Amino acid sequence: MSPEPNIITDNFWTPLSERPLLISGPCSAESEEQVMKTAFGLQKTGKVKIFRAGMWKPRTRPGEFEGVGVEGLKWLKRVKTETGMLTAVEVANPQHVEAALTFGIDVLWIGARTVVNPFSVQELAEVLKGTGIPVMVKNPLTPDIKLWMGALERINKAGITKLAAVHRGFHYFQKSPYRNAPMWEIPIELKRLVPHLPLITDISHISGRRELLLEIAQKALDLETNGLMIESHYNPLVAMTDAAQQITPEALNDLMNNLKIREISGTIDFENKLEALRTEIDKLDGELLQLLAKRMEIVDEIGQYKRENNITILQLKRWQHIIDDRIAIGSNLGLDNRFLIQLLELVHEASIQRQTKIFKNPS
Ligand code: PEP
Ligand code: MN
Repeated sequence: MSPEPNIITDNFWTPLSERPLLISGPCSAESEEQVMKTAFGLQKTGKVKIFRAGMWKPRTRPGEFEGVGVEGLKWLKRVKTETGMLTAVEVANPQHVEAALTFGIDVLWIGARTVVNPFSVQELAEVLKGTGIPVMVKNPLTPDIKLWMGALERINKAGITKLAAVHRGFHYFQKSPYRNAPMWEIPIELKRLVPHLPLITDISHISGRRELLLEIAQKALDLETNGLMIESHYNPLVAMTDAAQQITPEALNDLMNNLKIREISGTIDFENKLEALRTEIDKLDGELLQLLAKRMEIVDEIGQYKRENNITILQLKRWQHIIDDRIAIGSNLGLDNRFLIQLLELVHEASIQRQTKIFKNPS
């Protein structure tokens, strides 16, 4: 795959100037009453463009509520005619797509558990051919940008140009306050590679808890997301799936009112000042890189010296000293401990690699 995917999109989604596009609705459709009550609540906010609800729920273990299936699509039809919101469902196999098309669903999305499997995505691409329906592709569970782009490309190759990417966070082994680690660098990289592809942030599945929604939503907006997906239920306490992260339509209205929508670009004065600061950063980055290169030259020299004297590459005592000393200095300079450790480890690993090369192929 070429590193810069040729993903063609058209202008179905809200233009950036009208951001954020808001997609909301329950995690799962549970009953007609629940769907309609939630939909009317969301309509009342006047803020939601697309109503979402899961009909087929991919549960981790069998025996839990697995969704109401095709039955629920009828309720979405009602939502569309009675509220005017567009409707969206998750599809995981060709039968889901066919059912959704039969019921006139406006937008489909492919879930994180499906995106991990290129066979499944390809099957979906085949059945989507010629339909032209808008499709949103969630990030796969694993933090693998290629897999995400690959799924977008497969759907795009099937002729779907009304595409959006949905960032819903990643399964990660390290402890995190979030249900799914956001790893913002991944959606940012996707935006860099495919700038015209709309990006929507599913703050509910990142957060896992209502209390974190505002913070994540603000961060997403400040990183120039085009839209938000937020799970809403008229009574989250009785929700059959994802109860801890759903919010009432009223809470969603408050949440949106509490968000600061900042401009993507500013006045001439602002831009000039920003430009000056960026020039300074560019200069500092240049100096940092020169220093790093100089450091690596000395690392190479040490490597040669160790090799000539038959000394091992890794010397734990020295490494421990570096860690302690640099963290003390860095902390005094106001740098974050975790950042310092990560940076030192990265530099150390690269140094070891260079010395290993020298041990194998001495100059
Ligand atoms: C959902 O949106 O309800 C869902 C199942 O999401 P994900 O695929 O991101 O887990
Ligand atoms: Mn959910």
